[in-house]
Formats: sequence, C-alpha cells, structure tokens
Amino acid sequence: MNFPVKITEESFAARAARVVAIAAKYADTVDFEGRFPQEAVDSMKAERLLSIQIPRNLGGESATTTEIAELCSMLGQACAASAMVFAMHHIKLSSLVEHGADSVWHADFMRRIAADQLLIGSATTEGGIGGNLRNSICAVHVEDGVCRLEKDATVISYGAHADAILITSRAHADAAPSDQVLTTFLKDQYTLERTHVWNTLGMRGTCSDGFLFKGEAPAQQILPKPFAEIAAQSMLASSHLLWSGVWYGIAIDAFSRAQAFVRAAARKSPGAPPPGALRLAEVSNLLQMVKSNVVAGLKAYEDAKANPDKLSSMGFAVAMNNVKIASSETILEIVNHTMLICGIMGYKNGTPFSLGRHLRDAHSAQLMISNDRILGNTSSMLLVHKQDTSLLG
Ligand SMILES: Cc1cc2nc3c(=O)[nH]c(=O)nc-3n(C[C@H](O)[C@H](O)[C@H](O)COP(=O)(O)OP(=O)(O)OC[C@H]3O[C@@H](n4cnc5c(N)ncnc54)[C@H](O)[C@@H]3O)c2cc1C
Repeated sequence: MNFPVKITEESFAARAARVVAIAAKYADTVDFEGRFPQEAVDSMKAERLLSIQIPRNLGGESATTTEIAELCSMLGQACAASAMVFAMHHIKLSSLVEHGADSVWHADFMRRIAADQLLIGSATTEGGIGGNLRNSICAVHVEDGVCRLEKDATVISYGAHADAILITSRAHADAAPSDQVLTTFLKDQYTLERTHVWNTLGMRGTCSDGFLFKGEAPAQQILPKPFAEIAAQSMLASSHLLWSGVWYGIAIDAFSRAQAFVRAAARKSPGAPPPGALRLAEVSNLLQMVKSNVVAGLKAYEDAKANPDKLSSMGFAVAMNNVKIASSETILEIVNHTMLICGIMGYKNGTPFSLGRHLRDAHSAQLMISNDRILGNTSSMLLVHKQDTSLLG
C-alpha cells in the first residue's frame, strides 16, 4: 500500500498529535488485553511517521534523533507501548540510515520503507545469551549468494506484526561470539514459531513474544559492516536516547495526573496548601533532571555523529550508558512519588489519576538491557577511562 505524501508539509509534532489522540484512546485496552496497538500504529503509518528518519533522497524526511525522541516522549505520555513500538522501529532504522546508505539493497529497502510505511522489528536477544547484545550463539550461513539463519529469539517486540526483522548473529559458523553481523529479513523470507508468550507486568502492548526464527534471503541483505561498529556508532546511542524519550513521556503523564490531583485539592480548600503540593515540587525537580539528562545525551550524540572516532570512544559510551541508567531509575522514583500524591485515586484503575499502568510500564526500563549489565560495562571502561567532568560539553 502507498501512503499519501501531501501531509508531510505539516510539522512532525502536528502529525504526531493526531497519533497521540488515538494512542491515548486505546492505551488502557491495549494494556488490559496485552494486544498490539494496531490503531496507533495504523495512524503512525497514515501520518508517514515511520519513515521520517530516512534521508530525503531516499523518500524520507531526514528527521534528527532529537526530533524523533520528542515524538517518543509525546507518544509515551499517551501509551507507552505504542511509543516503544515507534522507538524500536526508529532504533532499527538508525542502523540502516547510518550504515546502509552505501549498500544498493539497503538504500532500496529504505525507499520501500518510506513508500509502504513498513514496520521494522529487532531480534538481538537470544536464548543462552540473554541481553548480551554483543554476543551471539547462532550463525548466519552463506552459500551461493543465499544466507540462512536460525535463531532462538526469546524476545521480539511486535514480531508477529513486523514487516521485516533486523537480526544479529555470528558472521559465519567459525566466528567468535562477538564477531557479529546484522541481517535484514523481509516478512516473506522468514517463519516465526512462537516459543514464549508475552504476558508481562507492563509494556504489555509491545507483544514481545519469543520465537524460533528461521530465515532465508539473498546474502546482500547482510549489512556490509561489522555489528560491533553498528552497535557502537548508532544502535546503543539511539536505543538509550529513544527509550529514554519514551520513559520521560511516561513520567510527564504521571506528573500531569499528580498536578491535576493537587490542583483539585487546592480548589476544594482555598487558603490551605494541599498535602501533596510540596511533593509535587519535588517531582518537578526530578522530571527536570530526567529532561536535562536526555537533552544533554541527544546533544552529545548529534555532535558526535560526524566524528566516527568520538562515536566509538569510551567517553561517549560511558555517557550514553549513564543516560540510560539515570532515566530508567529516576522515572520509577517519579511515578512512586506521584502515587503517594494521588493516594488511593492513583492506585485504583479507571480514575483520572490512575497510575498503575505508568508504574508497571516504567518497571521495564531497568530491564531493557539490564542496568546491572550496563553498569558492569561502564565499570570496566572506568578502569582506564577518565570521567568527563567539563561543563562545556
Ligand atoms: C518491553 C521490552 C521490549 C523488548 N523488546 C525486544 C526486542 O524487540 N528484541 C530483542 O532482541 N530484545 C527485546 N527485549 C529484551 C531486552 O532488551 C533485554 O535484553 C532482555 O530482556 C534481557 O533479558 P534478561 O533480563 O533475561 O537477561 P540478562 O540481560 O541476561 O539478565 C539476566 C539477569 O542477570 C543479571 N546479569 C546478567 N549479566 C550481567 C552482567 N554482565 N553484570 C551484572 N549482572 C548481569 C542481570 O542483572 C539480570 O537480572 C525487550 C525487553 C523489554 C522489557
């Protein structure tokens, strides 16, 4: 299906606002039923938001990571699952945009994504490896120009709804676990046999089931760069920044609900400050800290993009890891505080101040590549790397 192009004259925010309205309408149902946010994703496609990151010469709109993070935050305020689908799609696109433009097949694939608003999924997690993104057990086999891959992919968000999956593996049967490649398989080039059902505490609408993946495709669909480079130069930064955009959105909505609660209480008893008012000021402070952290991370990434040495440096990796750790931990503190402000009205489902969905969704942030794993990675770098302390950026 081809999508109309005339609406692209409107700003990203104006188009995203229409998606937000739809995502908000279905957020509780999506969460309760643990189902894919089809209405919101259809709206993203109708607004052509799935291709905004693709360069203009390939049919996209050359959106920056900062612009996409802002949309993640807008969507996160309405429905965290829809926002996470949007974020993960764009994280995968960043690998294509940053590393695939010189490959004829991948450039043409980006044109198809823009024309048909294809949704791209990700399969890095593997049985026996867990969240250790930079290691694979499975290996891609290339013979007579055809690549074949079988992977025990224990978590693939919206796997059953994706139009293509970008999947990591070892580069060949004799490769070391960290000698990896990233291959694109189109929907008609793979089968998915469901091995785990995603019945979780939060982020239920991401439908991140586990699958036995079996794919066969032309070998040119393997990105012609080591995955080590792709991970260091685009994927880790865009993951931490766009995820943080989603999580910031969850926290903003929790704050807004608590603020509405405090204002309502103030109206009921004029002259006497409501008990939650002071705590709300505390949450405002925490929210600003998350925002500053994400904004600084986005600036560091946009500045480093033109400099491959900087992108691959330890300083940059430590900074991006720190963005993820801080935002994933602080949003939990924020939602906890807002729950204390709203009390039972926040704890109950179906009130204007309900915060259960926010709290459950927010708990996924620390696990989405375990914070312990990330801290372990940072701690190894700090054995040799000097912490950046300058305020000049
Ligand atoms: C909402 C959501 C969507 C997701 N979507 C996808 C997707 O689309 N595709 C995909 O591939 N994956 C996806 N994931 C998976 C995800 O990003 C993680 O990689 C995965 O959940 C990690 O699983 P784990 O906690 O079992 O594994 P591990 O990372 O192996 O962690 C297991 C436990 O061991 C500890 N641990 C392990 N290694 C270390 C270490 N080196 N140092 C310290 N502690 C350690 C951790 O503290 C953790 O408690 C998604 C996850 C979530 C929550």
